[in-house]
Amino acid sequence: MRAWEYDGQKVTLVERPAPVPGPGQVVLDVTAAGLCHSDLTLTGRPAESHPFPLPLVLGHEVAGTVRELGEGITGLAVGDPVVVHGPWGCGECRRCWAGEENLCPRAARERIFPVGLGADGGLAEQLLVPSARHLVRADGIDPVQAAPLTDAGLTAFNAVRLCRPAMAEGSTVLVLGVGGLGHLALQLVKHLTPARVVAVDVSPAARDLAARLGADVVLDPTAAPVAEEVRALTGGDGADVVMDFVASELTLSDAVVCLAPGGELCVVGVGAATVPVAVKTMPLGSTVRTPYWGPRGDLEEVLALSRQGALEVHTTEFPLAEADRAYELMRTGGLVGRAVVRP
Ligand code: NAD
Ligand code: ZN
Ligand code: ZN
Repeated sequence: MRAWEYDGQKVTLVERPAPVPGPGQVVLDVTAAGLCHSDLTLTGRPAESHPFPLPLVLGHEVAGTVRELGEGITGLAVGDPVVVHGPWGCGECRRCWAGEENLCPRAARERIFPVGLGADGGLAEQLLVPSARHLVRADGIDPVQAAPLTDAGLTAFNAVRLCRPAMAEGSTVLVLGVGGLGHLALQLVKHLTPARVVAVDVSPAARDLAARLGADVVLDPTAAPVAEEVRALTGGDGADVVMDFVASELTLSDAVVCLAPGGELCVVGVGAATVPVAVKTMPLGSTVRTPYWGPRGDLEEVLALSRQGALEVHTTEFPLAEADRAYELMRTGGLVGRAVVRP
């Protein structure tokens, strides 16, 4: 099978042996794989900084159909449409039993890595899934929509769910970065809460998308200082929730300055910047969150919202052989929404 492999230096399309499922394992025919900004972060780091073995097949947003079932699996049949819940945990701790494998405290030390972010991923024709428990049925959803929902959708949903108590009537939510994750977070805030959404992006196309998806106010950070605009929009109070899907020096400093006392700062982006957390440096009584991916139950909810038509992933499709071109467009800001590769 063909697969996009990262060897520590470059990402290339290679030929690999077709995977064979052991007991309890499942092999999928990949029908769609979403490309995430985290792939660029991972492949941009020095090879020796990675805790996982190389080469690695990329791709952590995966939809597929069941190709082959290992021994002992019930409840799934060849041809079933599924998506992969990607943050793989130990499967045996309190968090994993609760479906929160994204927060498994043992995974890293037991060298269990997430799909496409340490374990071989689905930017390939086939994917070996080590346990059927990582699969969620995706009947009735176009795989090009379903794949990005497993990370861009799930991570955005988890972040919004955690901050939701602060998104009351009359509140303001500032969304920094309306890319793959941000454009879904924006829709979720509008659909699930009465909060007003102020969306910010440096890209004109992303700002157009934000406006089309229902953002109440859309700001260009290169035209006027975001902090001043947010202050004006909130009568000087600041935003009740700031969701930063970039985490660069620029966005994180805006995030802290724009946050109201008692507000919630939700840092989802894994950019290079950090923020000092202390009573003296943060708005009074504020909360800082750093959500990671999301639990399995949230993925089921995200898929349900998609089936209801409440969540639209804005996608650009690429054939498998052109994933490198899609990554290059992502790197240079030439993509809107999510790039999805179809093997
Ligand atoms: P993306 O490239 O699709 O979107 C990023 C958006 O931010 C783009 O629209 C870009 O124009 C915009 N942007 C860049 N600089 C900006 C600035 N200074 N001000 C305003 N907007 C700016 O990326 P994505 O795939 O949506 O990922 C977003 C971030 O979330 C990445 O850092 C990624 O690694 C991270 N991520 C985190 C988790 C998690 O679990 N915490 C999960 C997935 C992705
Ligand atoms: Zn991701
Ligand atoms: Zn665990």
